[in-house]
Amino acid sequence: MVYQTFKGLNTVMPNIRPICKQCNKNYSAINYIRNGKTYYRSICDECGKKKNKIKPKQAGWEKAGYKKKQQCDICGFNSLYHTQITVFHIDGDLRNTKFNNLRSICLNCVEVIKRKEVTWKRGDLQVDY
Ligand SMILES: [Zn+2]
Ligand SMILES: [Zn+2]
Repeated sequence: MVYQTFKGLNTVMPNIRPICKQCNKNYSAINYIRNGKTYYRSICDECGKKKNKIKPKQAGWEKAGYKKKQQCDICGFNSLYHTQITVFHIDGDLRNTKFNNLRSICLNCVEVIKRKEVTWKRGDLQVDY
């Protein structure tokens, strides 16, 4: 015996909330409400967040497997956050991702490099991996 306890529930909702296109699991996120009508996004909040986390493009050195160091290759500065260190291409060619063309340097040293030639520490031009 089935009791129709939820009878009439569907008519209470003015417009049907779509299901997320990405995960097919959650309800889509609300985009905006205009004139009492709710407009939805094609994906849910969760998938929207995940999407934002994905970087638009992976750097060449990242693809090549180079790991950014915590320490600056020029001044020896020890970074607290990985954003304090950037990967520098010695020959200026971003497509040249050979490890001996890559250096991890702090943002301070980037400023210096832009203005003058930097003499790399001896031994630095050999692949140390
Ligand atoms: Zn989703
Ligand atoms: Zn530095």
